[in-house]
Amino acid sequence: MTTAPQLAAADALPFDLVQRLLTHARAGGRPSVEVFAPATGAKIVDLPQSATADIDAAFATAREAQREWARTPIADRVAVLRRIHDLVLAEQDVILDIVQTETGKSRVHAFDEVSDVAVNARYYAAEAKKLLARRTPRGVMPLLTQVEVLNRPKGVVAVISPWNYPLALAASDALPALVAGNAVIARPDNQTALTALWAIDIAERAGLPKGLWQAVLGRGREIGGQVIERADYVDYTGSSATGRTIAQQAGERLIGYSLELGGKNPLLVLDDADVSAAAKIAVRACFASAGQLCESIERIYVHDSVYDRFVTEFAENTRTLTLGKERDFSYEVGSLTFQRQIDTVAAHVDDAVAKGATVRAGGRARPDLGPYFYEPTILEGVREGMTVYREETFGPVVSVYRVSSDDEAVHQANDTAYGLNASVWSRDTDRGRAVAARIHAGSVNVNEGFIAAWGSVAAPSGGLGISGTGRRHGPEGLLKYVDTQTIAVQRVLPIAPLPGMSEKLWAKTMTLFLTTMKTLRQK
Ligand code: NAD
Repeated sequence: MTTAPQLAAADALPFDLVQRLLTHARAGGRPSVEVFAPATGAKIVDLPQSATADIDAAFATAREAQREWARTPIADRVAVLRRIHDLVLAEQDVILDIVQTETGKSRVHAFDEVSDVAVNARYYAAEAKKLLARRTPRGVMPLLTQVEVLNRPKGVVAVISPWNYPLALAASDALPALVAGNAVIARPDNQTALTALWAIDIAERAGLPKGLWQAVLGRGREIGGQVIERADYVDYTGSSATGRTIAQQAGERLIGYSLELGGKNPLLVLDDADVSAAAKIAVRACFASAGQLCESIERIYVHDSVYDRFVTEFAENTRTLTLGKERDFSYEVGSLTFQRQIDTVAAHVDDAVAKGATVRAGGRARPDLGPYFYEPTILEGVREGMTVYREETFGPVVSVYRVSSDDEAVHQANDTAYGLNASVWSRDTDRGRAVAARIHAGSVNVNEGFIAAWGSVAAPSGGLGISGTGRRHGPEGLLKYVDTQTIAVQRVLPIAPLPGMSEKLWAKTMTLFLTTMKTLRQK
């Protein structure tokens, strides 16, 4: 494992920038918390925290702003998204610095977040008008019953987002909510609040009216419940365990929710795979953002006939990854974000090794680089009974398994309660597709790790099983933020017996009508 040159000292974020960003937070009613840069240990900010009064004020002003916004022509709402697209690309250097400072991730993976916001802004700007347009389905009585279906914004949407992809997960879920005519109250993780506040900052500079997108700040366990109590819809990204709590709280209020949760994602290398390509892309699929990525691959099943070659090449590629913490593109892998993350990674690796697994690459922390650095790690010989076999590590650790058939690979891949993302490698893409369709996951990439499905934002993304419920991206990612309203206008004749007509004759007439409708193949 080679190492990029080290920074001499932590670069602080510009004071004026931080102060400007903090103006977008409804916070200050509770004592601030200190936030530190994971890669360097340097203090980033004293982050104000929201008290109940702050949360009340955020929702009250958001509700007021939302009423006006819902009446704003869709063309004007779409124009804001287009300008956000341009600003996020134009000002990427600023946000890349903030994301790197707050998360410790490498710049190349911070850039993935910039692309994600741009792609989502472009997609929803292009599609929102069509998706939100009123529909006119057939009425019960052709010509006599005129029906229209309106899409009404939910109102105020809560977006509760974690720290690992703080820009993408705060902004890309908020954009469709906003363009659909909602206000958004963000509750970003304290560790990465400045990133979310920057997204709000550029949105306002792109023309989003003030108050429509605000942030409240605090630990999830402390203020999450208060946010859900006031929201009309909850969009949550985080662990499956917390997802259950969110679902209970939303269920109690009978409001809708979307949960994007954890994964233990498999990659399958079939016997006809392009082994070198698989061994190359698997590196990115496993170690992007130091493995702190919900879509990250943590299990690899390789056909016996190509196993040795795959593992040799994969381990070689992994060992050439460079680790670093500079704010530039000179290395691939950055720091983990918290002590608890590196503790979990070390515990999973140590437990596996103690029970007989072997380390093919990595396998050790790198305190010489920073407190939370851990080398990208490949394990072999992992078995049931080792923690890493079933539990999500959410770090740079992957286990490789030998299988003797497609059936065995699919069976093993599906032997999990999760179902978020998967990857299948085969030179025969029809075969790859067929295997993909047998995998219990919300998205499956053929000859890619995760980015083909994730980046195709016209298609929905989300989990099966304990990986979540609800979808982001695609029409689903916008329509979850609206309620349909059906308005039916009855003209000329009522749907009831005519004056003097007996109920029996009415039933006979209706029977004839229904039979005729079927004969005429009317829906
Ligand atoms: P976590 O559930 O502990 O925390 C995630 C966020 O939820 C944090 O910001 C936290 O403050 C907040 N939170 C905690 N309790 C809360 C509550 N009661 N109410 C409201 N908010 C609350 O998860 P974590 O370990 O910090 O994050 C990593 C997990 O997130 C992993 O399991 C990962 O797979 C998952 N994740 C999923 C996706 C996805 O799109 N499916 C994306 C990123 C991360």
